[in-house]
Amino acid sequence: MRLVFECVECGGHYLPPEGMVYPDGPASPVWCSSCQAAKQAAGEQEDPLLARVALAAARAALARRATEPTEPAAGRGDVRPSRPPLSRRARSGPGGVRGRLG
Ligand SMILES: [Zn+2]
Repeated sequence: MRLVFECVECGGHYLPPEGMVYPDGPASPVWCSSCQAAKQAAGEQEDPLLARVALAAARAALARRATEPTEPAAGRGDVRPSRPPLSRRARSGPGGVRGRLG
């Protein structure tokens, strides 16, 4: 399960790799990849306290999701495709009930 973070710079939600490492370096828990790149280009470092808080918040959100009773993936395979009702077409046809009555 991967952690979802909220970028403190642009407010967007992002999903860093599981190991918190991008192919080109460590992922930041406070900035999305594009904001992190911009910050690094500007020579700014992430606030270590903010990073710890963001990491804890993401872990708490993950734990909350894990304990939720609803599992959308489970049971979906058991649902059989329902057939369209056959009677609807017969009733609306030219030789239907209404025509016989009129
Ligand atoms: Zn961002």
